[in-house]
Amino acid sequence: MRVIAIQCPDCKMWVYSRDRHDMRFCPCRTIAIDGGRDYTKISYHMSLCGMKIKRRVFKIKATLNDLYVDYNTYGNRLGYIKPHVAKRAMNRRSDIFKT
Ligand SMILES: [Zn+2]
Repeated sequence: MRVIAIQCPDCKMWVYSRDRHDMRFCPCRTIAIDGGRDYTKISYHMSLCGMKIKRRVFKIKATLNDLYVDYNTYGNRLGYIKPHVAKRAMNRRSDIFKT
């Protein structure tokens, strides 16, 4: 399935929201994305005002149910795409879709 992810300019982690009420922060808590598949809200530290936040659509292996379960049972193994994994996906054009 496809998810919209944003990249933290500080820790470089790509982050996506797993469910409507999942405000998913990056590990350093500089940025967050919310809304799951219903809407997209991006929040960030005021030090990033005026800076362009990178945003891309990634194809991930998880299903919508996987995301829902991970969020609602505090599994927390989804919602992040590590920088080196994202870079690899971006090099394979079939796995990355620009927004
Ligand atoms: Zn961060």
